[in-house]
Amino acid sequence: MGRIHPEIYFFGAGVAEGRAEMRNLLGGKGANLAEMARLKLPVPPGFTISTKVCNYFYDHGHKYPKGLTEGVAKSVARVEKALGRKFGDAKNPLLVSVRSGARVSMPGMMDTVLNLGLTDETVKGLEQISGNPRFAWDSYRRFCQMFGDVVLKLKPENKNDPDPFEEIIDHKKATRGVKNDTDLNVDDLQELVGEFRALIRSRVGRDIPQDPREQLWMAIGAVFDSWHNDRAITYRKINNIPGDWGTAVTVQSMVFGNLGDDCATGVAFTRDPGTGEKGIYGEYLPNAQGEDVVAGIRTGRQISVKAGREWAKRAGIDEAERAAQFPTLEESFPDVYKQLLQISTRLEKHFRDTQDMEFTIERNRLFMLQTRNGKRTAQAAVRIAVDMADEKLIDRKTALKRVEPEQLEQFLHPRLDPSSKKHVIARGLPASPGAVNGEVVFSADEAVAVAEAGRKVILVRLETSPEDIHGMQVAEGILTARGGMTSHAAVVARGMGKSCVAGVSALEIDYGAGTLSANGAVIRRGEYITLDGSAGEVIEGRVPTVEPEMPAYFKKFLSWADAVRKLGVRANADTPDDAKIARDFGAEGIGLCRTEHMFFDPQRISAVREMIMAENAQQRGRALAKILPMQREDFVGILKAMQGLPVTIRLLDPPLHEFIPHEDNELRDLAAKIGTTLEHLKQVRASLFEVNPMLGHRGSRLGISFPEIYQAQARAIIEAACELRRQGVKAMPEIMLPLIGERREFDILAAQIREVADAVFKERGMKVAYTIGTMIEVPRACVVADQIGEVAEFFSFGTNDLTQMTYGISRDDSGKFLPDYIRTGVYQKDPFAELDPVGVGELMRIGIERGRKSNKKLKIGICGEHGGDPASVKLCHRLGLDYVSCSPYRIPVARLAAAQAAIEASQKKAAFKDV
Ligand code: PEP
Ligand code: MG
Repeated sequence: MGRIHPEIYFFGAGVAEGRAEMRNLLGGKGANLAEMARLKLPVPPGFTISTKVCNYFYDHGHKYPKGLTEGVAKSVARVEKALGRKFGDAKNPLLVSVRSGARVSMPGMMDTVLNLGLTDETVKGLEQISGNPRFAWDSYRRFCQMFGDVVLKLKPENKNDPDPFEEIIDHKKATRGVKNDTDLNVDDLQELVGEFRALIRSRVGRDIPQDPREQLWMAIGAVFDSWHNDRAITYRKINNIPGDWGTAVTVQSMVFGNLGDDCATGVAFTRDPGTGEKGIYGEYLPNAQGEDVVAGIRTGRQISVKAGREWAKRAGIDEAERAAQFPTLEESFPDVYKQLLQISTRLEKHFRDTQDMEFTIERNRLFMLQTRNGKRTAQAAVRIAVDMADEKLIDRKTALKRVEPEQLEQFLHPRLDPSSKKHVIARGLPASPGAVNGEVVFSADEAVAVAEAGRKVILVRLETSPEDIHGMQVAEGILTARGGMTSHAAVVARGMGKSCVAGVSALEIDYGAGTLSANGAVIRRGEYITLDGSAGEVIEGRVPTVEPEMPAYFKKFLSWADAVRKLGVRANADTPDDAKIARDFGAEGIGLCRTEHMFFDPQRISAVREMIMAENAQQRGRALAKILPMQREDFVGILKAMQGLPVTIRLLDPPLHEFIPHEDNELRDLAAKIGTTLEHLKQVRASLFEVNPMLGHRGSRLGISFPEIYQAQARAIIEAACELRRQGVKAMPEIMLPLIGERREFDILAAQIREVADAVFKERGMKVAYTIGTMIEVPRACVVADQIGEVAEFFSFGTNDLTQMTYGISRDDSGKFLPDYIRTGVYQKDPFAELDPVGVGELMRIGIERGRKSNKKLKIGICGEHGGDPASVKLCHRLGLDYVSCSPYRIPVARLAAAQAAIEASQKKAAFKDV
């Protein structure tokens, strides 16, 4: 039989007019039903009206294209013929479901009507075929309720308002003195149908039509209407789904899993969506409808005996009890189980991905109602990708594309125990992942004191500054009320691999009272909170966490990524410990070692402060002489940990005032320690004050003003490399100048560094290799990159500053207004989290092009926080960078994103060739 109408696609009963690839036209659900029918699987027959009709409907004042009415009538007749039932027949009625289906799943956003075709006449027929009057009347009452809610729009707009039909049911149960819907008898249900219809008549001035065809057309219209309901519109906005995609409507014959004990309904996955383990996994309920499984009122039973035994073990139920009370599908419906297993294998092979299937058993007959690619945890995603590639179901490139790079971070950090309850009291930015709990403390010193007593702490601050480093180091996690994705707290926490939730604007912190409050919850110093840095959640109390692990399949997966990626991946690391972690995660060097972080060590800070307080170069030199050996040790440690891999060490960057204590009593202690007066120190502090420190006396400007500082740091680096050479350890230091915007800055500073290096070589009687390069983080540096490229040996884009200066948005103050920009759609993304390809990306492109024009060998990387963000890594690939550098815990993410970028680029090229 040929096609009935160009926009209607029939499926089932040996026919399949659609295909899986037609999801844009048929919606995900409709396309896969057609595909299952094509595979001759048992699918209840039906038809899908395409998304083109949805668009036509909206473009033509809610009218349908020519011939659709007849087409639907003929399609219904075809279903009737296939089943030997008739729409509106009092003896053997056909019932259908009417469902929405967009090309991507929009869970719960749009509407569905079940049991359509029931009328005062046909309900009698249903009583007869089912032999179960209660079932028939319960179906009719459900239909009236859904039709009223969805088609006649009686469902309250506000989710918290009661559903009028539910109110009637509650009233009925109360007058009958029963608790559950299932306690209502046939008479009650018949009365309910009458009361529902009376309500509908009084509210909308009409009854539910008694002609199934009229019911059908009203339901089809309602489903198309639901594409533009508020929920769906909001969902599309959040998920970037264009409004002109439209929804398809699938009309499918009903099958019943609740006709008796020879019926059931369930969901099954082809592999465990939690662990990725191969084998059928899921739940079913005997004598039930789909919504009963989802509602979770009855305990779902396992599909396979193996899973059933594991389930019982976890639940503390012994085998005899399990077998008697919770038999598996394998035990209760052995033939259907075998068939389901075959179908499951077949579907997985066919779609080459884990399937999530819905099925119903009606009188021992299996029907497949849906199949789609199954959602899965990060662990399962990687394991399934690796297993499927090993099983030759997919190739390795496909495996690599199947996992979201972000998901890999979950292998490296503890997670919230998924079986535990949580009460989220506030949300902020997911600044650094991992789930942790601990006692609330409000200062770094308090954090150290409590941690020393052996207890876990969460450091809570309005925002953090370098002075808090010692507290951050001992804390499990960090929570701040202010600050964005590149705030101090966020950057330092990521580097340390600690959990951090930043910019929680609902958070009120009272340091004096020692309390934090948010949305009505008050938590005192010493009480427990839990942070989920991956979700940006602040949770009351102590939620248990699960430790991370890096299984063999994870390593294998990443080795595949390494084989295809073109970008190098380095780490931002400031200490030998971080460097070791970075290597374990696969770093191929260090792209940024921020030397200032070493200065905050309690043992060093007073020497650093002495250097800052110095009134002349001589005094400064004396203080630097104390710092130098400590810095040399740091560099020996880091260079050694990296075993000859390149290590980019950035000379001092932040403005000096950051190292000066804010509190007068601390200043007094310092005065006593370094033999000066409080007054003098106050004067120094005042002289260092800057209105706009981010654009002030920082970066290479410090090196120009105080050459001794950079000279001392350069000496420490070169001496460290010489020391290692003496020990026979390979070292490759790359000295990096921050905030260069003018070639002459570079010339002067590089000359000084070379002079120091030559002096050290002479003193030690040996030479070591080193290079000198620059951060590119001032917009001007991108524009004059040809000039800087003539003298620099490498560029590293500091995209935190470059974003800040390109947008003219202070990194530290953005938290006040950036959320409004995202909320109102002025910006699609936080530019400090994901590189702006249009503005900042264009400056980078200019910088790369001009830099390479004057220096073909110029090595170019990125070390801003974007270096660990998948979309930004992909942009870096397209821009032709040599490497990205990110915090150690983002390295696996960057490795995978770089691999995906390479695959996407090669596939795009291949597609061009095909054209
Ligand atoms: C940058 O600006 O991107 C950078 C890496 O430097 P910092 O964040 O230390 O300013
Ligand atoms: Mg910078």
